[in-house]
Amino acid sequence: MKILKFGGTSVGSAQRIKGLLDIVNPSERQIVVLSAVAGTTNALVEIGQAFLAGKKEEALELTKQHKHKYELLIKELFATEQGLAKGQNLIDYHFNYIASLGNEMFTPVEEKIILAQGELLSTTLFHFHLEEIGVPSVLLPALDFMKIDEDNEPMVEYIGEKLTNLLSIHPNNTLFITQGYICRNSFGEIDNLRRGGSDYTASLIGAAIQADEVQIWTDIDGMHNNDPRVVKNTTPIAHLSFDEAAELAYFGAKILHPQSVFPAQRYNVPVRLLNTMDPQASGTLISKDGGQTGQIRAIAAKDGITAIHINSSRMLLAYGFLRKVFEIFERYKTPIDMITTSEVAVSLTIDDTRNLGDIIKEVEDFGKVRVDHNQTIVCVVGDFSANTHGYAARVLDAVKHLPLRMVSYGGSDYNVSILLDTEHKTEALRSLHNRLF
Ligand code: ADP
Ligand code: ASP
Ligand code: MG
Repeated sequence: MKILKFGGTSVGSAQRIKGLLDIVNPSERQIVVLSAVAGTTNALVEIGQAFLAGKKEEALELTKQHKHKYELLIKELFATEQGLAKGQNLIDYHFNYIASLGNEMFTPVEEKIILAQGELLSTTLFHFHLEEIGVPSVLLPALDFMKIDEDNEPMVEYIGEKLTNLLSIHPNNTLFITQGYICRNSFGEIDNLRRGGSDYTASLIGAAIQADEVQIWTDIDGMHNNDPRVVKNTTPIAHLSFDEAAELAYFGAKILHPQSVFPAQRYNVPVRLLNTMDPQASGTLISKDGGQTGQIRAIAAKDGITAIHINSSRMLLAYGFLRKVFEIFERYKTPIDMITTSEVAVSLTIDDTRNLGDIIKEVEDFGKVRVDHNQTIVCVVGDFSANTHGYAARVLDAVKHLPLRMVSYGGSDYNVSILLDTEHKTEALRSLHNRLF
């Protein structure tokens, strides 16, 4: 069984939704995971924010405007009166529901319900389109099997059991469709896997049912060796290891959701990144044995980083100091990305600043604290194992004209990370690209 995930651009118009059948072979057993139509989740975020802020009129106006886009889409998607009527009923239902949520006490719970409507719409529209042209398919509601626990961690075994049961009800069907991104949380409420989460859905499904392969279909021909939005002349990488891909996704390569590699890696399911606009392109294969020794493979950057520097003479020759510091971050469920230490100081970075104020108050008990906002982690992935030499020096040489805040080397065999002010990011990525490739 294969899992094929199509991102927002790949279902971005009626033409593209119809074009999915150029890639999806309905007679092969597979689960197709769809994102919301491009732009929809952003619009739903805006609508939810407006309701939350008490700006009901604005929210309703945005809802109306967005519904209109779907009215144009279904006119192109459906060829028959009957198909069009079904499409119209569907969008009436979802957009009326969104509007009606503004009548109740609007909380983050309702906001998440609104965010879920995009994937519910795109998958049902595809299903109705297939029905209209006589291609059998089964809609699998993600809300019936995709679940996260109280720590927001996906429950892979639960997902596997539920999904296997759902699939077994349809032994003669081959084409299954489900929603990316959306899930239920430990309270049973509608929730999501964070922005870009459809990749994560695909990988979780692949892991949960031990699929043969997960394919992520998007608008570019695989993982490039640098951010194509910032640097010219980037090139796709044919083969990456899970570790390399995880590092790149985590540190900003937007083509993959930050956590999406881990389930596939844990259950050893290969992941292919492929281009909907150029299906023949070979893309990137991510698998166990994808690494290449003696090479620098790729560069990525993650913005929105906050650095915390703690200077404390109590650290000198003391044990247990770092544990106490880390415990504070653990208590506030705030992951730390990068760490550097000296004998009397420790610097670390976070990207989730929701509890920054409380964390700082507690950390101040240990010594002098400085906080730097608007930082970027630039991550260089390649073979930095102990038996290679000169690579780290080449990385640092490429950014020697820029002020570096932190450098992390030796944490893993395949990564060097640099922290700098976000204003220097573009120059850092370009200079590294020119010097390393
Ligand atoms: P989708 O909507 O299909 O999930 P995304 O926009 O999330 O697509 O991801 C694809 C985009 O990721 C590309 O269009 C590209 O601009 C961006 N991107 C950033 N870094 C990389 C990289 N290293 N390789 C490929 N694409 C990248
Ligand atoms: N639709 C969601 C988003 O835009 C999930 C996804 O596209 O992967 O973030
Ligand atoms: Mg994406």
